Amino acid sequence: MAEKVKMEFDKTFMFHLPRICEHCLNPACVAACPSGAMYKREEDGIVLVDQNRCRGWRMCVSSCPYKKVYVNHKTGKAEKCTFCFPRIEAGQPTVCAETCVGRLRYIGLILYDADAVLDAARVADPRDLLEAQRKVFLDPEDPEVAAAARASGISEDWIQAARRSPIYRLAMRYRVALPLHPEYRTLPMVWYIPPLSPVLDAVTGVGADADDPDNVFHAITDLRIPLEYLASLFSAGDTEVVAGVLMKLSAMRAYMRARTIDGTVASDLLEAVGMTAADIEEMYRLLAIAKYDDRYVVPAAHREDAAALSAQADGCSLDGDGGPGMSEFHPTGLTGRRTDGRLGLKLFVGKGSAS
Ligand code: SF4
Ligand code: SF4
Repeated sequence: MAEKVKMEFDKTFMFHLPRICEHCLNPACVAACPSGAMYKREEDGIVLVDQNRCRGWRMCVSSCPYKKVYVNHKTGKAEKCTFCFPRIEAGQPTVCAETCVGRLRYIGLILYDADAVLDAARVADPRDLLEAQRKVFLDPEDPEVAAAARASGISEDWIQAARRSPIYRLAMRYRVALPLHPEYRTLPMVWYIPPLSPVLDAVTGVGADADDPDNVFHAITDLRIPLEYLASLFSAGDTEVVAGVLMKLSAMRAYMRARTIDGTVASDLLEAVGMTAADIEEMYRLLAIAKYDDRYVVPAAHREDAAALSAQADGCSLDGDGGPGMSEFHPTGLTGRRTDGRLGLKLFVGKGSAS
């Protein structure tokens, strides 16, 4: 059967990959901006352009590997996705997430160690970048992490939101969400679940049963083209990582089908992908039938942070003593107010046609 699938796979496959600014942890646009106009808000990790400071140097345009900064030709200034920050501050999801008819997008909060960001971006082998970035993320259930977050001034409702974060579960607990082009080393914060649909289409295309996990598992390992292509997008070319995710998604479909239709528990599937029944059922709830409040866990900004959130220095960075490249910004965009490097960040996952 696998040979047949390979022979039949002569058509290209198609899936949608909604792409917005990655609101990177190590943003190249911030590092490249000579005016200090591009900055990463330490309060919530959103990367923004200070329109008062932007002098139209366009370094951000050429430096962003995701090509997510544009120049407004009327104002001559840089513009980009703002992660709908006024809505995020009000505890609402972004417009593109809320209006997605496929309900494919999720937004949640991640606690991370800001002091570990640069080391993670520097690992020698690009294939180690995924694990390096995962290590930057902190487990919100860990009492030490919670205590450090409190000591950093992160409020209790944000810590609770981090515990309910759909993103933490998809990226860290089930490990099915992957960063887009980790080899760019900007540590992107919009992660994706690779689509299973090219594999399922190929299996059904040769008349095989795509509900039979054996067929799908074999196809995942044998279909070189989609696997290598997906690996080039999400795991710096490591096909094992993508195959592992697709196996989990396939196991989830088969497990839930067996449970709801046949009333059986397919424990062999759980063993094959190293997940517990509780995990696979929770992942199914999150990916297939999650309600609005489960997909978007966005705590509102605090009134006491209002001044910092709207603080944008008036005037241009060139007006004072500093000139291009001399304004006060940190190359990572993480400005100096943090205490012990543990910050909150809202992170977004655009889910592929995985479930
Ligand atoms: S994708 Fe990253 S580097 Fe590009 S504009 Fe967004 S934050 Fe900057
Ligand atoms: S709707 Fe908001 S979050 Fe989505 S791309 Fe536009 S500005 Fe960015």
